[in-house]
Amino acid sequence: MTRLRNLSVPLFLQSLGTPVAVTGFVRSPVSLSYPRGVAAWPRTPPLATTPANAEGESGLFADVDSAFNGEDTVSPLVASISPSKTIEVHALTQEMKARGERVVSLCVGEPDFKPPPAVISATATAAQEGATKYTGVTGSLDLRQAICDDLSRRKNLAYTPGDIVVANGAKQAVYEGVLAVVRPGDEVVIPAPYWPSYPEIVKLAGGTPVIVETTVEEGFLLTAEKLRGVLTDRTRMLIFCNPSNPTGAVHSKQQCEELAAVLSEEGGKGDGVWVMADEIYERITYDTPHAAFASLPGMYERTMTVNGFSKSHAMTGYRLGYIAGPPVIVKAIATIQGQLTSCASSISQAAGLAALRVRDDEMQHSFDVMREKRDFVLKCLSKTPGVKTAVPQGAFYVLPDVSAHFGKEAPDGTVIGGATDLCRYLLRAHRVALVTGESFGFPRGIRISYAASLEEINEALGQFEECLSSLK
Ligand code: PMP
Repeated sequence: MTRLRNLSVPLFLQSLGTPVAVTGFVRSPVSLSYPRGVAAWPRTPPLATTPANAEGESGLFADVDSAFNGEDTVSPLVASISPSKTIEVHALTQEMKARGERVVSLCVGEPDFKPPPAVISATATAAQEGATKYTGVTGSLDLRQAICDDLSRRKNLAYTPGDIVVANGAKQAVYEGVLAVVRPGDEVVIPAPYWPSYPEIVKLAGGTPVIVETTVEEGFLLTAEKLRGVLTDRTRMLIFCNPSNPTGAVHSKQQCEELAAVLSEEGGKGDGVWVMADEIYERITYDTPHAAFASLPGMYERTMTVNGFSKSHAMTGYRLGYIAGPPVIVKAIATIQGQLTSCASSISQAAGLAALRVRDDEMQHSFDVMREKRDFVLKCLSKTPGVKTAVPQGAFYVLPDVSAHFGKEAPDGTVIGGATDLCRYLLRAHRVALVTGESFGFPRGIRISYAASLEEINEALGQFEECLSSLK
């Protein structure tokens, strides 16, 4: 029998209506002392002077190093979070553009197509016709019902509206799901290369990220053996991103079943582990069909399925995502969300409802174009010296291993020590912006997002090839 590991203790108690005082987190409401390092109140601590990149892949705390070094102004919890390693390339790109220089960027993690017209008109109608008030915490009933219908029709998953929490983006949904179950000291398994927010979200919840590496030769697929090898008695959750950002890898149904079998082994260390199935790219798949993790034998009761509208419907700015899961978890997540943000934007929810009514065949064209771009990128990379690439089966990223070039010298004498040096040099000398693999726990590679025009891809990858060929 699967033993489901409990909710985090404070939330569990809250769900029973018990007031919770957690030692160490309770502050005196009448304390007048200033935080250490802050001379007078109110004074803005030296934080966040550069806007965050909404993907969480850059810019979160641009000045965070200077804020942490020396002055003890932020909480130890925040201090445990790593600032993004892509800040530098992002900032340099902005600087170069501000100087009027042309930079081709294949950094972004959002589709280059527009939301369907029905979504745009539903947005306007919602605003004009008064859908401008708070909805219930977990989202409007219409939208949650439409999500259930969609999950049933396309994924063969049986949820009711009470099993869904609509959030301000899938990122928030992941965060709330992790917060609901991860207790201080719990281990959370994250296959690498990973989406950069996962380890930081786990740390924010007081958990310990346990990274399990996969390689380009393996197609960046997590195997049952590797998963079994990292499970311990303290494992609380597996975060499974399928299709993957940043690799584009898609685990087939059979591969997912093998992972699920490890989590179901009677008396095994995976028994009772929660699964955070981030399936935000599930509509953008190529040759390997996507299998919903919650649809696998024994997984429904312990999987939190995260999805959203940012990637499938190009609605990144709407900030709309959701999480579906067992009632005990959904209740806890609703409690968190109720205190954190009340509800997702009512206007975005109306737009999300319209998005779910767009027929699959109307959406397909955008995905077919993505496939053409993927094929074009692979063709370009096959001509580029010293890159090893796995064929992405989904999303719009490719993560070539470029480590064959590390230690080489560029024509201007720059030594390419690693992926970050390569990205820096590529930007400076060839005006192409890519993201260092160090951001994704894969220091041997760099990420290319092909959600751009074919002209831009052609120009950027032409320069990339020229750059790598010039290294000696
Ligand atoms: N999960 C993954 C794997 C992502 O790539 C992203 C966005 N970059 C998100 C979640 C968050 O998406 P949203 O815009 O819905 O918050």
